Amino acid sequence: MSVTLFINGKLVLPDRTLDEGMIIARDGIIEYAGKAKARLPKADVTVDARGGILAPGFVDIHVHGGDGADFMDGTPEAVSAAIRCHARHGTTTIFPTTTTGSPEQIDAMLAATSAVKLAWTPQQGARIAGVHLYGPYFAPDKVGCHRKEGRRDPLPAEYDRYFKTKLVGVATCAAELPGAEAFYKAAHKHRCLITCGHSNATWAEMDRAFRNGMRHVDHFWCAMSSVVSLRARCGTPMQASMEQFVLANADMSTEVIADGCHLADELLAFAYRMKGAARLCLVTDSSRALDMPEGRYRFGNEGDGEWFLHDGQVGRTLDGVGLASSTAGMDRMVRIMMKATKAPLHEVIRMASLTPAERTGIAHECGSLERGKRADVLVLDKKLKPQRVFVGGEEISKA
Ligand SMILES: [Zn+2]
Ligand SMILES: [Zn+2]
Repeated sequence: MSVTLFINGKLVLPDRTLDEGMIIARDGIIEYAGKAKARLPKADVTVDARGGILAPGFVDIHVHGGDGADFMDGTPEAVSAAIRCHARHGTTTIFPTTTTGSPEQIDAMLAATSAVKLAWTPQQGARIAGVHLYGPYFAPDKVGCHRKEGRRDPLPAEYDRYFKTKLVGVATCAAELPGAEAFYKAAHKHRCLITCGHSNATWAEMDRAFRNGMRHVDHFWCAMSSVVSLRARCGTPMQASMEQFVLANADMSTEVIADGCHLADELLAFAYRMKGAARLCLVTDSSRALDMPEGRYRFGNEGDGEWFLHDGQVGRTLDGVGLASSTAGMDRMVRIMMKATKAPLHEVIRMASLTPAERTGIAHECGSLERGKRADVLVLDKKLKPQRVFVGGEEISKA
């Protein structure tokens, strides 16, 4: 039996912060999280936050890679490199995300993720909670920076195989595609968070998708329909889009890439004000260029993925016009969201931890500092930079 104490920090709970907080973890599970006790229990390890912040580990439901590796490389080495990289940035639970690619590439990605998940120990980095089946079911006019040749419509013969792995926890499909309805039904049966993304869907298509279980939209304002894009697709009268559908529907959640490059502060603040912390997730959507020098990289598989440029701040398409995903970790998303919204710290942290955990059905085991959950704990300094990262009570080395 091993007891770890976390002391001397501001404790971030789901609904408040406690200035003098403390966590007691036993064998990697939180036994107590609350006000510091006058008498400390005997501990094997004591972690002193030195007046900083004790926050729950982050949960990233939309993430492509890091440290030069993309999950679509389809090797255990790539998966391991990316989960280690994201742990350095405070992510303790991760959903490796597919992109457009051949069925063989997606099979390889699932096999590699499964192998790493099965042999995983906390020191290796973020725990894999499931896969986000994101590509290949994008709308042809909303493929964005992803490889166009790897896009297709959903067919049961293909996706049934992916669902059978029991790895898929988040499932994306553009609502207007032929076969989307059957895809959503299959994803619903497998208890996935169902999301519509890379889509030019109308309100009517969203409404039908909602009835089939769709409850989330990928990266709000990026690669999704707007009143203007629907006018180009459907003419007049102008129609309501994914944007209105998400803002009008309290059961819909969404996510923002809060890297400071994709969306201006007022859009981040607007999304928070309209949806609230329980329906808005922070995601990194980061590519393999996270923690890598500026230069050209491939999005998706290292052999045939689309090239993009990492300019030191963000990914850009080679023509310089489009964005090609973030190159930042979740810690930066939290800092930018704090600055943009001026929301209370516990609300911003919630968007990076408990909200994504709730939406994907894993909040009983992680996402907040509460008794009975895994001791996924971050020691942050006052500027919200991760100093120490613990997964299941075990510290991740910085190397
Ligand atoms: Zn995308
Ligand atoms: Zn993405």
